[in-house]
Amino acid sequence: MSKTIFSKIISREIPANIVFENDQILAFHDINPKAPVHILIIPKEEIETVRQIDGSKHAGLLGAMIDAANQIAKEQNIYEDGFRLVFNCGENGGQEVYHLHLHLLGGRAMKWPPG
Ligand code: AMP
Repeated sequence: MSKTIFSKIISREIPANIVFENDQILAFHDINPKAPVHILIIPKEEIETVRQIDGSKHAGLLGAMIDAANQIAKEQNIYEDGFRLVFNCGENGGQEVYHLHLHLLGGRAMKWPPG
């Protein structure tokens, strides 16, 4: 599998507006935001989709991604009002970049059901 744009952001081959980083995770502003706050939280490990997640192996990583989302939501002042976390998976899920990413969306009221 060729390198995705997110792997190139991790390796700093292409720039991004990074808001959070630790040894496991990177988070940066979405280049085409769908809400006033739209941040992508990604693992540094190359995982294509949610389908490759094994709960027994990746529970710690997923917990760390949620921890990062809560911390970033506080820093972006969307924590108290609420926000949405989304994993798109595969074609019908609307996934465009095949490197696992958690969308953190906030700053406005979200509609349900999603489109
Ligand atoms: P998805 O449709 O779930 O795969 O979401 C991919 C997201 O990545 C979209 O919201 C894009 O706007 C975003 N995106 C694509 N390229 C970049 C980039 N270079 N920097 C930041 N976000 C990007």
